[in-house]
Amino acid sequence: MKPSLVPVNTSDSWTGSLQGLALKNIAITVRDNDTYNEVFHDFGEMLFTHFGVSGPVILSASSHMKNMRDGKYTIEIDLKPGLTDEKLDARILRDFSENANKSIANALGKLLPSKLIPVIVRLSEIPTDMKVNQITKDMRHDLVYLLKHFEVNVESFRSLDEAIVTSGGVSVKEINPKTMQSTLCENLYFSGEVIDVDAYTGGFNLQIAFSTGVLAGKSV
Ligand SMILES: Cc1cc2nc3c(=O)[nH]c(=O)nc-3n(C[C@H](O)[C@H](O)[C@H](O)COP(=O)(O)OP(=O)(O)OC[C@H]3O[C@@H](n4cnc5c(N)ncnc54)[C@H](O)[C@@H]3O)c2cc1C
Repeated sequence: MKPSLVPVNTSDSWTGSLQGLALKNIAITVRDNDTYNEVFHDFGEMLFTHFGVSGPVILSASSHMKNMRDGKYTIEIDLKPGLTDEKLDARILRDFSENANKSIANALGKLLPSKLIPVIVRLSEIPTDMKVNQITKDMRHDLVYLLKHFEVNVESFRSLDEAIVTSGGVSVKEINPKTMQSTLCENLYFSGEVIDVDAYTGGFNLQIAFSTGVLAGKSV
């Protein structure tokens, strides 16, 4: 049995400083760093915690992170999925021109939640005391890239206790689907979580439990 639909621990030093920050209307892409393949992409809501990241879109993503180990997966967050690079650049340019003599941290207030600004500024490597009218076009383009590809490095899953479902369990090949009786052991019936089936949130796991439970009960 392994945890699935589970929050993940992350290895980035700034994780703790974002604790409690919820991001809505973001897109995430999960990459397998061994194969460089995209294993998951979706839009939704996520949450930063003291250990890493959680929330609906992260829980769904976790079920696609197979053979988990430290460094295997990177979650790339698009903080502004509704804006193309060009539109986001134009938006930042407008905010910068309205705040020409301010520092970058004070010019991003309309674009980003306040908790996120220090982290973005640090990762952008733009000096904190630099006035926005001194920021070059290249620096601004790097900032746009960062906002569209904000990376979180996955270390591990949280424990089974924190998981919404377990993946793994009794193989469906060893269960008669007409009765839920074991094909290996007479008079033994299975239902719900103990079976090697799991799905996204949205009622599917409860439906699996109810349907297999009713069938096993009637068969007994
Ligand atoms: C926080 C959370 C949110 C969830 N949200 C959703 C959702 O939105 N949609 C969805 O589809 N699914 C959701 N799930 C998953 C869903 O709840 C489970 O897949 C489903 O309840 C599994 O049903 P089950 O009967 O197989 O197991 P369980 O519901 O775990 O029932 C097992 C029961 O056995 C009892 N038990 C254990 N050991 C013994 C023992 N030795 N003797 C006697 N009794 C024992 C336990 O106390 C428990 O009551 C969620 C799960 C969690 C934890």
